[in-house]
Amino acid sequence: MHLFTIFGNPVHHSKSPLMHNKVFYDYGIDACYTRTLLEDGSKLKEVFLRLGLKGANVTVPHKEAAFAACDEVRGFAKRAGVVNTLVYHDKKLIGYNTDADGFLFAMKKFQNVKKVLVIGAGGTAKALVMRFLEENLEVSVLNRSAKRLKFFESIGALTFTWDHFRIDSYDLVLNTTSAGLEEDSLPAPQAMLETIFDHTRYVADAIYGKLTPFLALAQTKKLPFIDGTDMLIAQGVLANELFGIHTLSKEQILTSMRQSLTL
Ligand code: NDP
Repeated sequence: MHLFTIFGNPVHHSKSPLMHNKVFYDYGIDACYTRTLLEDGSKLKEVFLRLGLKGANVTVPHKEAAFAACDEVRGFAKRAGVVNTLVYHDKKLIGYNTDADGFLFAMKKFQNVKKVLVIGAGGTAKALVMRFLEENLEVSVLNRSAKRLKFFESIGALTFTWDHFRIDSYDLVLNTTSAGLEEDSLPAPQAMLETIFDHTRYVADAIYGKLTPFLALAQTKKLPFIDGTDMLIAQGVLANELFGIHTLSKEQILTSMRQSLTL
């Protein structure tokens, strides 16, 4: 049997096991996908090998640690420095990133997006901002602290901490922080977010499966919004393909994964 897991901290909220196991079940694939709470990201490879995994996904806050743990990184993940999908092949740990393409797929619901404000500067923000810039979007990044902003400045995004934020108008404002995931907090001060929402057309949150305080605020402003569900499904389809244990089409994987979230 092939074993897979998702590494994260927290990880109990993750719907990835449900989605991947539904695919394995529907098509009689001899595989199982679990959750692994990992506190120390530097132990990722050691734990991966000890569990005898064929592959894994990686969530908050270990995506940069996953990049460092790989023997080889392929495709977009190499440019972004962030890995969310791991596959064990020929005794090598190979890393990929499927988050950015997942979010581009989810964004198709919004028309004519050219200017984006990304809140947060973690692993997910890194991948998404880099991909947005490759798509020639204008990107600003707002984070509570300055340390992680250097990377974004170096790749051509405008960067701000809360203290130095200068408002502009945006087509889309996207929360990539984990604020609202476990507790009911906003990713930036409420007054700042209200001003931002007065200057945007669409709102999105990478967190899925709940109305976060961020999305609830967007709702009071009557803005169209999405949570992270479509991104979750799209990144999951791409990851499931990369695991390399079947020849199912994207459509087949997508159908099972969508059904799993309605169970
Ligand atoms: P990281 O830990 O790498 O980054 C977290 C970022 O959030 C940092 O910039 C941090 O700021 C900021 N932050 C954390 N807590 C707060 C807070 N209370 N207020 C303001 N800022 C805060 O996390 P990831 O990038 O890996 O994941 C971020 C979120 O995206 C998670 O909730 C995850 O579940 C979600 N996600 C969803 C996906 C989907 O498929 N829908 C896919 C990928 C991620 P600082 O730099 O100051 O510490």
